[in-house]
Amino acid sequence: MRELLQLNLGFFTKSCLVIGFLCGIHFIVALFFYLSESPLTFMSYRQIQSLSDIFNSQTHKTSGLGIQNGTGTEVDENKWIYTNRSDVKDDVVLESCPETSPLLVGPLRVEFSDPVNLEMVRKNNPQLLMGGRYKPSDCVALQKVAIIIPFRNRSEHLKYWLYYLHPILQRQQLDYGIYVIQQDGEDTFNRAKLLNVGYAEALKEYDYDCFIFSDVDIIPMDDRNTYKCSSQPRHLSVSMDKFGFRLPYKQYFGGVSAMSKEQFQKINGFPNNYWGWGGEDDDIFNRLVFRGMKISRPSGDTGKCRMIRHSRDKKNEPNPQRFKRINHTRQTMNTDGIKSLIYKVIDIEKDQLYSKITVDIGKP
Ligand code: BGC
Repeated sequence: MRELLQLNLGFFTKSCLVIGFLCGIHFIVALFFYLSESPLTFMSYRQIQSLSDIFNSQTHKTSGLGIQNGTGTEVDENKWIYTNRSDVKDDVVLESCPETSPLLVGPLRVEFSDPVNLEMVRKNNPQLLMGGRYKPSDCVALQKVAIIIPFRNRSEHLKYWLYYLHPILQRQQLDYGIYVIQQDGEDTFNRAKLLNVGYAEALKEYDYDCFIFSDVDIIPMDDRNTYKCSSQPRHLSVSMDKFGFRLPYKQYFGGVSAMSKEQFQKINGFPNNYWGWGGEDDDIFNRLVFRGMKISRPSGDTGKCRMIRHSRDKKNEPNPQRFKRINHTRQTMNTDGIKSLIYKVIDIEKDQLYSKITVDIGKP
């Protein structure tokens, strides 16, 4: 009996040692991947986050991996970029607009139940110039902002976007222009490449220093969520109704974002080879982190926004290659981007509310 007991104890001790040893190895491997900031690590983390986002009610915390959360008093990363400008109009010297516009009203009611039309939008915004251009008449805007919207077959959404955004952007005292970049043909949609085109086309027209990249179906619910650039790339759609008014995952950079010309050039713009839905915004996030930048964000309250509900677009099915691609951003970002962008302008249409540029961007 005693022998049997000793035998069992010996077996138990050995088993414990083996299990302890395996746990140790597991811990060291996990630590290695956690500390080596490789895209693989990011990917695994992201995939887990992505899966859990549906079930998890993550609070709106954005500490960690290159992210700064904006508050009432902005920290350095969230400082607006601007140079003091003055101008002369009718022999009167115009001073720079204030850092915070006095015209802002705060939270807004955003509804999509009543139809809107372009005539209404024109009537409500008589100060707009051709191409949806505007600048304040009583001060010099702190930033020249190009707003780029990738587009195809979403005229109804564009009407709401213009209806809500033009008054907001004017209250924000911006010198701005609206560029709707329409993908020609019926091939698979490529959001990031259209954004690259928008950047290039807008710069041909005016010396913009800030670029807002916005989906056509996202409307801010607070005009204090300023469509301006800060000293770090800024994510603006941080609190979407679609995601229960929180970030779906910490690294999420989709929807609406803002980048200065310098920040955009530093990452060689956006990838051109994400065809179909998903992943391109994660690639952009990777690019920013790999170039040592942090993401600045407004608070969850100021950053609230609504997305117009819709069924999935045809020819924009989830891109099965997206996971593989975002694992290789570090290798691809130098060769694939604004420097290697090829496209052909098919048509430029100017309205008082926007410039619509139709482009042939090729096919997958
Ligand atoms: C996709 C992103 C998308 C996000 C939220 C991710 O899985 O890769 O492109 O923006 O989900 O829908």
